[in-house]
Amino acid sequence: MSQAPLLADTPHSHERLLVIYTGGTIGMQPQANGLAPAGDFAERLAKALSQLPLRDQPLLPAYDIISYSPLIDSSAATPLTWQQLATDIAERFDQYRGFVVIHGTDTLSWTAASLAYQLQGLDRPVVLTGAMAPLEAPNSDALDNLYGALRFAAHPALQEVAIYFANRLLRGTRAIKQHSEAADAFTSPNYPYLGERIGDDFILFPSRGLAYQQRGAPRFERVDYRPVAQGEVVRITLWPGMAAWQLDAWLSHPSIKGALLQLWGAGNLPDDPALLAVIAKASGEGKLIAAISQCSQGRVHMGAYAAGDGLTDAGVLSGDDMTPEAAYTKLVHLIAQPISLEDRRRRFLMPLVGER
Ligand code: ASP
Repeated sequence: MSQAPLLADTPHSHERLLVIYTGGTIGMQPQANGLAPAGDFAERLAKALSQLPLRDQPLLPAYDIISYSPLIDSSAATPLTWQQLATDIAERFDQYRGFVVIHGTDTLSWTAASLAYQLQGLDRPVVLTGAMAPLEAPNSDALDNLYGALRFAAHPALQEVAIYFANRLLRGTRAIKQHSEAADAFTSPNYPYLGERIGDDFILFPSRGLAYQQRGAPRFERVDYRPVAQGEVVRITLWPGMAAWQLDAWLSHPSIKGALLQLWGAGNLPDDPALLAVIAKASGEGKLIAAISQCSQGRVHMGAYAAGDGLTDAGVLSGDDMTPEAAYTKLVHLIAQPISLEDRRRRFLMPLVGER
């Protein structure tokens, strides 16, 4: 990891932001085999910000910047990447008023959700952003996203992990990537935006924020994710014709410690007792199994349909209206902790950081 101080015009680091650059399209440059993560980001960012309209320049918060090495396309992120980011933020927490994480968009919402669980009780902003086009590309969305992320990360009333993208501030545990090309690539299907850029104004809606629900000192949960970083938690999306032996192949594997099932609609699955038997066997073995919907909007009501009625008896936990990202990273976070299965189950069903 290399460190390059920047905009050193503010003397005290606690008045500054920390920017952590991990890679992603935003910082990529063309190579012989296509776009690849590129370095010198501190200088490139400073140059880009100097091109902002003059009226915006004085509003820029001062910041320091850390660049990860190696820089990654976010498809390479794992739970260990999430843990590294939480560690880097937690270790510097008292020195900075807020944090910006620059990240590839493909798994940005996964990292945001994971950070929210690891940094529970935040009393200052952690804002993730990225871009659909590289910083130096014509008409790139990168500069707007970076500027907005810096502005919101300096807002003391924001006290949680959020994503700033295309003029919107989204709760980290509520966001999904919804578009593979459009600039407004992220949405928050089941929770309103935390803030918005309207013209030159960056407006925060504090009543929607966690700051109103969490008080007191940060109580970060620094957890060792190594035991869950090799695929020990699986995500399985049902499809018509799925057979019990296929589900069993995933769930009965001895390495598996948990699973997120994505059911149909309000919580439906094929009316096949063999499927429920596979699930019941896995949860009887202590595997943590939760279910959400394949639909991005709405919630699961397990038991709404006769076919899905046996899920609760089979030990499946309702993920309510959680995003796949929030449900999956929560399973990872709970399974990695040295707590009882009952505590894991109880905490999964509770909102920890506004994720459900
Ligand atoms: N593949 C890139 C990444 O996630 C996509 C992006 O950043 O937009 O790192």
